[in-house]
Amino acid sequence: MEIEQPNKTELNATVCSQQRRLLDMFGEAVQELLLLHEQQFLAIVAGDLDSNRFDLLIHMANEKKQQAKYAYLQHVDTHGCSANNVTDER
Ligand SMILES: [Zn+2]
Repeated sequence: MEIEQPNKTELNATVCSQQRRLLDMFGEAVQELLLLHEQQFLAIVAGDLDSNRFDLLIHMANEKKQQAKYAYLQHVDTHGCSANNVTDER
């Protein structure tokens, strides 16, 4: 039995690994942002009103999230791999 090269149709049907990676990065960036918001909230509750550092960190995390989102959307757009494929894990 010979090992077959995946054909075009097969490639399109499988999850694009690059798309998967970019989506993971986007997800991580969103999570990071959520974590910072939570930490800021906890700091405020604890009476730490000198929590301006969170504003900068949140700003940076937000930029990172936007970049990750843009990179993901741009990849899907240029590569032509459908975003629907991501949920179809095989
Ligand atoms: Zn792709």
